[in-house]
Amino acid sequence: MEAHESVTELIGNTPLLRLRTSGGSQSAVVYGKLEYLSAGGSVKDRIGLRMIEQAEQDGLLGPGGTVVEASSGNTGLGLAMVAASRGYRMVVVLPDRTSSEKVAALRAFGAEVVLRPSGLPLEDPEHVLKTAARIAEETPGGWLAGQYDNPANPQAHYLTTGPEIWRQTGGRITHLVSCIGTGGTISGTGRYLKEVSGGTVQVIGADPASSVYSGGDGRPYFVEAAGHWRHPETVEDVWPQSYHQDVVDRVLPIEDRESILTSRRLAREQGLLVGGSAGTAVAAALRVAAEAGPEAVVVTILPDSGRQYLTKYFDDDWLLRLGFLDGDPATVRVGDAVPAATRERPLPYLNGRTTVADALTALRELRERGERAVLPAGPCPVGPERRPTAPELAGSVALDRLAEAVASGAAVPGDPVAGHLAVPLPQFGTGQPAEKALAELTERGLETAVVLHDGHAIALVGAAELRACLPA
Ligand code: PMP
Repeated sequence: MEAHESVTELIGNTPLLRLRTSGGSQSAVVYGKLEYLSAGGSVKDRIGLRMIEQAEQDGLLGPGGTVVEASSGNTGLGLAMVAASRGYRMVVVLPDRTSSEKVAALRAFGAEVVLRPSGLPLEDPEHVLKTAARIAEETPGGWLAGQYDNPANPQAHYLTTGPEIWRQTGGRITHLVSCIGTGGTISGTGRYLKEVSGGTVQVIGADPASSVYSGGDGRPYFVEAAGHWRHPETVEDVWPQSYHQDVVDRVLPIEDRESILTSRRLAREQGLLVGGSAGTAVAAALRVAAEAGPEAVVVTILPDSGRQYLTKYFDDDWLLRLGFLDGDPATVRVGDAVPAATRERPLPYLNGRTTVADALTALRELRERGERAVLPAGPCPVGPERRPTAPELAGSVALDRLAEAVASGAAVPGDPVAGHLAVPLPQFGTGQPAEKALAELTERGLETAVVLHDGHAIALVGAAELRACLPA
């Protein structure tokens, strides 16, 4: 019989598929390793199994035990699948921006899901990592998987992903391209391939452009589960021990728009429904292939399925709202209400650490110049070259309300303004129809909105400006 005894036997051993590239005869061939065909649906099944096996061997996890992990989703799913098949209880701590599909899938495996706010510095006791560690400690029989620092994470890829790729390419691979989250995939796979090839395989990281691994400042980005984000208040930024930089030759930054549009094209043009980080990886692999020449063989890891992101990268409304799609050129769009000169200027914005007194001064100056006396605010350490991303627009400050709060004693002039924020201004993407945006503002009785392009705030727009650019 060709049957298996346990679902864990169906982890890994994923196929390699040649991807179509537009590079012509000068480009290297590019193969994608389809990790979404693993039993639990992602590259992280491999580490779910390996980490649990190792904990069992080490006597850290046994009958009646509870597996605990902080995860952006896929590691949680891999662990939950293995835990379910072996009868362990599973608790997963997730940032609240995780896609709803992943949360629902975890619950389907019987895991208990604990959601924590996404935008917290590492030092905050409510941070997902701190919360998971606490739960593991307080639960009898609890074991924290700890993928960021657990040697079984890169080891899983050293033992499986690397050898599979070497075998599947008949030893012809010349370049490995992979995203870096915990770093386990690239470190374990890359180390094996370097060793077995006598050091000839080049290992290249694919990274969201603002992630710190490729030299970004750690500001938020929109590709889930890859890269490394840094909260502006994080004091000491610790990189995962699962990431072995010595294995990686270089890291290419890929803009969110390119990642997202690449994964959409993979679905439409090649029938591959994969996630956003696969878009990042393939975008980087195509660049590597163009440089490497026709003799090279590039392999890239497609970590998970696009089914987990149907409400994000594959939802036109979600993309339009963030300014990742250009919309219908035949209609008047929100971007048309933003003059080119305004796009060039830095967006007026208040860092939450600004004092109430300074915020009042800034707002009064705006009113004196005849401009609207309201500003978006949040944690972004804004400067002329920086544009806050949508998640950094945590609130807003209006002159009249703030002045009132000071007059009534509710706000003290020396306080940081962060403690006195009103709800965020509405956000519209540059490609959204201006008419719809105006209708939404009018319905909510609001005057001002933030305009987003590629997920970044580029300008404020008023109802009057939207009205003015619409045909009478
Ligand atoms: N892409 C996706 C979809 C993932 O879930 C992960 C794991 N967080 C990665 C990429 C990065 O993999 P690794 O943690 O092994 O670096």
